[in-house]
Amino acid sequence: MAKRRVVLTFPPELTEKPITYHLVKDYDLAINILRAKITPGEEGKLVLELSNGSAEMIEKGLDFLVKQGVGVEAVSREIFLTEEECIHCGACTAVCQPGALQVDPETARLRFDKERCIVCELCVPACPLGIIKVLF
Ligand code: SF4
Ligand code: SF4
Repeated sequence: MAKRRVVLTFPPELTEKPITYHLVKDYDLAINILRAKITPGEEGKLVLELSNGSAEMIEKGLDFLVKQGVGVEAVSREIFLTEEECIHCGACTAVCQPGALQVDPETARLRFDKERCIVCELCVPACPLGIIKVLF
């Protein structure tokens, strides 16, 4: 299964058009919305994970978006934390809306699920030890 994480920027005139619907219907893409900030009449942002059995279909779907005037940017950054320095205080989990950072209730240790991370970077300043970094 091919997957791509992208940040889409919708100009104000496109925020009310069913563009993501076409990705599903015309390009057979599975869409996982990781983050959304869409207000009618204003520029909108969506962070999506697109998947399909074929990477080519994902590329075609992204080409469609670009032709419609949607800004497409790959999520290429990554969050890295030095686990051996972590004191499992949980401060970073409070700001992690997708639940990528969680304290395991059984072990009371921090768990980082990279698959859920949308690289919003909110956890970086939240860590009192400064052990969460963004890698490019
Ligand atoms: S960058 Fe940090 S706060 Fe944002 S989703 Fe990833 S782990 Fe959570
Ligand atoms: S805030 Fe820092 S020290 Fe605390 S659990 Fe998160 S990564 Fe570990």
